[in-house]
Amino acid sequence: MAELRVNSTIASHLTEADIKSVLGICPFGAIEYNNGTLEINAACRMCRICVRSGPTGLFEFFQNDKKDDMSLSEWRGVAVYIDETKDGEPHPVSAELMGKALALTKAASCLASMSPRCAKS
Ligand code: SF4
Repeated sequence: MAELRVNSTIASHLTEADIKSVLGICPFGAIEYNNGTLEINAACRMCRICVRSGPTGLFEFFQNDKKDDMSLSEWRGVAVYIDETKDGEPHPVSAELMGKALALTKAASCLASMSPRCAKS
């Protein structure tokens, strides 16, 4: 299970200006500052923007209790974020996004392999 943690040692050294800046990092408003403590609330989507854009080491992403600090430059996947409707169903555009992701994955595989077959498609 994935978990995002705030490094309290690093957080304790932040200035008021740093904290104000950190609160603005999350596009989902999931970073809060309550009673002198930085916290992640339930709005977190695990996008890891704060891990990449925040002060070094302040936000740490853990996968199955192991710190995951893989650089995005090493990642070769295509991520698709599927949101849901008010009824709890996948948004209607989801299937189209999955199809585009599949096409991107195939194109990326062709580029990586430099296969002559890729030139035909
Ligand atoms: S992982 Fe994404 S959604 Fe969660 S607190 Fe960080 S920036 Fe916000």
